[in-house]
Amino acid sequence: MSSLPARPSTTGLFGGTFDPIHFGHLRLATELAEAFRLEKVVFLPAGLPYHRGRAAHATNDERLTMLKLAIARDPRFDLDDRELRREGNTYTYDTLAEIRAERGPDTPLVFLAGTDSFAKVAEWHRWTELFDLAHFAIAVRADDSQWFSKGPGAFPKEVWPRITLNLRELLGSPAGKIMTFAMTPLAISSTAMRAAAAEGASIRYLAPDPVVEFIRSHGLYASVKTRSEAAPDAAPGVAPAGDRIAGAAPTGDRIE
Ligand code: ATP
Repeated sequence: MSSLPARPSTTGLFGGTFDPIHFGHLRLATELAEAFRLEKVVFLPAGLPYHRGRAAHATNDERLTMLKLAIARDPRFDLDDRELRREGNTYTYDTLAEIRAERGPDTPLVFLAGTDSFAKVAEWHRWTELFDLAHFAIAVRADDSQWFSKGPGAFPKEVWPRITLNLRELLGSPAGKIMTFAMTPLAISSTAMRAAAAEGASIRYLAPDPVVEFIRSHGLYASVKTRSEAAPDAAPGVAPAGDRIAGAAPTGDRIE
């Protein structure tokens, strides 16, 4: 074990659609927290494009409820729904700029991205300014063949000088560094969970039990008919199946 001190103010930021959240996400957040000695990992659910099918996807409120159920027992995990509340396009730059303004100039922020999405960082809105706002933690899957053939060469060369292997150096500054970390591959995806739920197959042990139970009791991801049958016992504060993301923004630069 390293003697590196924990920095209480260092916060990890984990964006995704979480439709639904599953153990792959929770394990990744845990490994991020441990690799970077983070006090908190904040889940940032993204807005979904309005044209995604109603029966195939959960509403914003449903995704939020599932996130709350999933993280409730881990004091390191937090939730920030600002991207769901934002009108118009959702850009990582805007989210990081807001969080930076709230946390002040000195707090280290660590934004999580996968190697595949970070390889396209040059397509992100105001991408060169992102590094003024946060560090980037790049999760490398053990089965990521592109990474193992190209390594950091997969990233735009402008960012190469920012890559560090030194965690102390990264945590000693508020933003601007890029560091990779290995993550345990768990072959779970929200897409596969939605497909299983639609077929009436079991989704147990892919997500925490309260999330699985919520999906089942609300008929999420099932056919429209099944959803409307399940709707009468919907929990308070949970949007009915048809009430989907009024005015929702198209997806931003991070989520394709
Ligand atoms: P979908 O199947 O709907 O695309 P997803 O399961 O990939 O969803 P997202 O909400 O898009 O979930 O994922 C958010 C982040 O979590 C992304 O960076 C994604 O690469 C990562 N992630 C998703 N599933 C896993 C997993 N099983 N192991 C590690 N990382 C994962």
